[in-house]
Amino acid sequence: MPVNVAPSSTNAFAAVIVAAGNGSRMGGGQAKQFRLIGGVPVVRWSINALLGHKDIKELVVVGPAGNLSELQALSPIDDRLKVVAGGPTRTMSVRNGLQALSKNAAKVLIHDAARPGLSIEVIDELLLAIAHADAAAPALPLDDAVKEIGAAGGLRTVDRGRLVRVQTPQAFKIKSLTAALAGAGDDLVDDLAAIEASGGKVILTRGRNELMKLTREEDMPMVARMLAPQEMRVGSGFDVHAFETGDHVTLCGVVIPHSHGLKGHSDADVAWHALTDAILGALALGDIGDHFPPSDPQWKGAASVHFLKHAVEAARNRGFAIANCDLTILCELPKIKPHREALRTSTSAALGLDIDRVSVKATTTERLGFLGRAEGIAAEAVVLLKG
Ligand code: MG
Repeated sequence: MPVNVAPSSTNAFAAVIVAAGNGSRMGGGQAKQFRLIGGVPVVRWSINALLGHKDIKELVVVGPAGNLSELQALSPIDDRLKVVAGGPTRTMSVRNGLQALSKNAAKVLIHDAARPGLSIEVIDELLLAIAHADAAAPALPLDDAVKEIGAAGGLRTVDRGRLVRVQTPQAFKIKSLTAALAGAGDDLVDDLAAIEASGGKVILTRGRNELMKLTREEDMPMVARMLAPQEMRVGSGFDVHAFETGDHVTLCGVVIPHSHGLKGHSDADVAWHALTDAILGALALGDIGDHFPPSDPQWKGAASVHFLKHAVEAARNRGFAIANCDLTILCELPKIKPHREALRTSTSAALGLDIDRVSVKATTTERLGFLGRAEGIAAEAVVLLKG
């Protein structure tokens, strides 16, 4: 993001949230803007998104005239925020909101509170587009076949290629919108309709499914699922194996010739043992020894890819995928660097994870301690799982 590329006045935008409706198509008694999604009132999602944007310098929330105190109570204390009463129609509420803006505002975003899934990206795209038009709005194509029902009940297929679904926020140059609204009625479907009627230039930006409008009762759980934060889990693993007589070590499934081998019940792949423990750790499923006891003869000489894949499978079964992993191998010898890309490649293949999400690093301990005396190899791993 560029900083200080323009004086702040040209980057300053205002926003109006229309939250004055009574949500007549929705059950539950309470107006939808006050219902909870993820424990947060619907209108507060949009307030947070708009106040969270660095270029929004003032925000007016237009509430139901009879229930302003509830809206005030759930609004954050912020110098940029003002709560005002709406009118009997959406368009009249928008007029009230525009009147409450300071004279400094030249551009405004107008948003329906019933669309809680507003993201910074959507706001960014609108703020860029409005520099080149009278209005800008997010729009989505229609993916279903579209039919018009005739007066006699017959169907006619409509060319959906020419149709879009338009969402909010809609961005406007305030001068263009005020002029367009002066000649418009008081019951517009949205504010863009006024610009359309006045012949102003409109740019459509990319709409989002998450921006869907809460209209019916069944929309509540659907939007709640879309807005639920993704669960993240972090795990760490550590392992050490001592050298013994031999002619190679196995690290990340790769055989590396060496003057010694690594002692262990399985193939002693210290790197993948640490990685397996990190995944199990993120899942709080104990450690590799719990899952593959050294006392069990079936794991004697086993390839550690088996342990690693078991941990990946355990994550998958619980709805988690690996976001990335970072593996550090600590030893004096053998030199790891010449093999590093091979270790990344084999780990990427075993995890089924893009190679740019797999990091393998190596370090020595500056000849200190048991690792410095080249008595063995240690490895540590960190993984992030996403739900
Ligand atoms: Mg081990």
